[in-house]
Amino acid sequence: MEQFRQMLNDCIRIGLETGATSLKTLSLKAYQQLRGYNVPSAYKLGAISRATGILRNYRKAKRKGIRVREPYARRLQLTTCYGFKIKKDLLLIPFKSKERIQIPLNQHTLQSLSIMDARSITLTVDRLSISYAKEVTEIEPKGLVGIDRNLDNLTLADSSGRTEQIVLVKATQIKSKYRMVKARFTRNDVRVRRRIFQKYGEKQQNRVHHILHNASKHIVEDAKVRSLGIVMEDLRGIRKLYRKGNGQGRFYRSRMNSWSFYELQRQIEYKAQWEGLSVIYVRPYGTSSKCSMCGHGLSEENRTVKCPSCGLTVDRDVNAAKNILAKGLRFRPVAPAIEAMVQESAQAVISCH
Ligand SMILES: [Zn+2]
Repeated sequence: MEQFRQMLNDCIRIGLETGATSLKTLSLKAYQQLRGYNVPSAYKLGAISRATGILRNYRKAKRKGIRVREPYARRLQLTTCYGFKIKKDLLLIPFKSKERIQIPLNQHTLQSLSIMDARSITLTVDRLSISYAKEVTEIEPKGLVGIDRNLDNLTLADSSGRTEQIVLVKATQIKSKYRMVKARFTRNDVRVRRRIFQKYGEKQQNRVHHILHNASKHIVEDAKVRSLGIVMEDLRGIRKLYRKGNGQGRFYRSRMNSWSFYELQRQIEYKAQWEGLSVIYVRPYGTSSKCSMCGHGLSEENRTVKCPSCGLTVDRDVNAAKNILAKGLRFRPVAPAIEAMVQESAQAVISCH
């Protein structure tokens, strides 16, 4: 691993000096210079390909004007997509010439490998991870489901008229408790403080992630069963939406930014793609301030909103989810949706712990 780190840094240096960006040019320039290392050639190729990735990210960040340090690999880690083999229940990785290290694989890994191809392996001091790839056939959606994210819940509305609320109070509570502990902590030793926050922060992060994983898993599984495409608001500007001077209180803002809508969006997106479901993003404007039936403007003060124009009385979040769904349907029309929209909605509440 130490040698791999050195090779990787050599490759990064060469890449920076020569301005090589593609895997091919970097290979041509760096492979000769890695001659000095007495390691299987698979690792040289691995280091070159890893360096290409690192350099690509570095250049991308630089183009966007983000201030970044020149890349340098510090962590002891070995990543390669070449040279390894899986034989029955053993992973064989090359070591010195002709020798191989054998690593037994567990049942779960073997099961995954039986339906997917291993693409690369990453070895760290205490961990081995294998990344898989599978062929995904995109499912033609029979309908769509709109997802509205809120302070304490996610509200779903699909094109068959069904709505559902996933309660996320737990995640919000964990986050706000953490903020409280942090605010109360007055000890002045910076190092101790940092260490405690880091430890506490990791723990609460894990708990929140777990809750979000349950929620995203449920949403995607459900969408798969019904062959629904998923519609979400584009949250890339979410922090801008909830910032100072937008008329929200400080407490509200920090809670809105807290349980990571972005993380949930990311989870739903990759899980959906893994299942071949399509994901549509719509602009997050006006979804909660308009009637989902007639488009008339609504005031957002209460839990339940009543439209002054058409008389629709509906839960505020359900209304927003329906608007998101409608935006998605405009983007990608699905045949039976319109007649289904007027059906009476059945509501289910699911709580994730
Ligand atoms: Zn209305």
